[in-house]
Amino acid sequence: MRHDVGPSEQNTRSLEFVLDWDGTVTERDTLLLALQHFVDRAILDPLEAELDARLAAGTITHREVMEREFSLLTVPLGDVVAFLVEHVRVRAGFAAFVERFDPLILSSSFHETIEPILAREGVSARVRANRVDPRNDGRQIRWISDSDCATCGEPCKRASLPAGALTYIGDGYSDRCAALAAERVFARDGLARYLDAEHRRYEPFTDFSHLTTALT
Ligand SMILES: [Mg+2]
Ligand SMILES: [Zn+2]
Repeated sequence: MRHDVGPSEQNTRSLEFVLDWDGTVTERDTLLLALQHFVDRAILDPLEAELDARLAAGTITHREVMEREFSLLTVPLGDVVAFLVEHVRVRAGFAAFVERFDPLILSSSFHETIEPILAREGVSARVRANRVDPRNDGRQIRWISDSDCATCGEPCKRASLPAGALTYIGDGYSDRCAALAAERVFARDGLARYLDAEHRRYEPFTDFSHLTTALT
């Protein structure tokens, strides 16, 4: 048995792990999955195309995109959660990764849709996310994990990052600013393309089994 800790392992242990949820822990974005199931595609698809284009052009914030999308989900929240628990898939090695590294899950989506999937997976993890707020006759997002950010100029996750050195694992737009604050980044998809364009270092993220191998 080995009790000494080498320098690289020491570095790994001193870093706190921060994990995005949608498209990172989960194979697909869960809000989009729910929208594609519950909303007429003739309404959803043109709206998604418009929102994507405006987000890329910087004429709308990620928060506004989520609010527009969320307003389309008019079915009872219980129906959305039941659908997600049945259909959402998490990437390989997730439960073992949480057990070993105790990451913080930092998400722009919702405790109400994340926690039941963690329960399904038998995973107990720290989560910082927004909440679904039933108000009046509608449903709104109570923003918690995303707050105004002086660095990127829009509400983002950066202020919710733990203090100290971080390893950030993410996939998308909502991870950009937070990833730039981390010492080490594992990225895929849109986040990887963004970091490429910004000439920032990152390592590719495929799943948690590969990630664990890269860290040890
Ligand atoms: Mg994501
Ligand atoms: Zn920011």
